[in-house]
Amino acid sequence: MRAITLGYHDIIDPKDQAFPDPRGASSTYSLSRAEFRRQMQAIARTSAANSVVTIQQARQWGTQVPVFMSFDDGQAGAYSCAAEELEACGWRGHFFITSSWIDRPGFMSRSQIRDLHERGHVIASHTLSHPSRMSELPWDSLLREWGESLETLSEILGTKVEVASVADGYYSRRVGQSAAAAGIRVLFNSEPTSATTFVDDCLILGRYAVQAQTTEAEVVAIAKGEAWPRWKQSALWGIKGVAKRIGGQQYLNLRRRLLSK
Ligand SMILES: [Zn+2]
Repeated sequence: MRAITLGYHDIIDPKDQAFPDPRGASSTYSLSRAEFRRQMQAIARTSAANSVVTIQQARQWGTQVPVFMSFDDGQAGAYSCAAEELEACGWRGHFFITSSWIDRPGFMSRSQIRDLHERGHVIASHTLSHPSRMSELPWDSLLREWGESLETLSEILGTKVEVASVADGYYSRRVGQSAAAAGIRVLFNSEPTSATTFVDDCLILGRYAVQAQTTEAEVVAIAKGEAWPRWKQSALWGIKGVAKRIGGQQYLNLRRRLLSK
């Protein structure tokens, strides 16, 4: 059982001054609406177009490889730009909400979250407070991060939320176990892989992060399941995993070397 997930963050319309990149991360993780539209239209012209579905439409799948679109953090542009562009292609996405950021300037409101849900998108948890190193949190804190966010989102939607993604990519088996214990049935992490696995009764899926520097050709190749960009991202991820343990400047140097190849 394999699945390909494209991992986006905010999608920004530069003309829209109301949403000035609340996390200040525009250079790395935010895409312009025009660029995002080009990527979606490019995928729509390929054989992958019919594979773009949501996890709710494809909880069980066989040899077919579904393509999932995911948006982390719950920023306003994901609502105002990304959802419309997906819908223009006939698709729906997965929106991962950090529940303590709801209603803050630049982030989605409760009514916008409800609206996305009613339009057929999947609303999911991206923790309560977006901790920077989830894998180092005590068990009780992990349960609180998942539990309180699920409770808030379920209350907003009036239906049980059972899908989530890991904040900042610090995944470990224990993080997966805590998600399962909190009632999460599908957990996306940030490992660039199409392989899936189970931890307890929670399905674990990787994601290919799309950043500002990712080209349209790379995005299309990932969606089509072609190997080389997956290798490139996996190589980056491998180094990132090591670097997050050794930390700091060495990681940046390694990353720069790899990206320049
Ligand atoms: Zn995040």
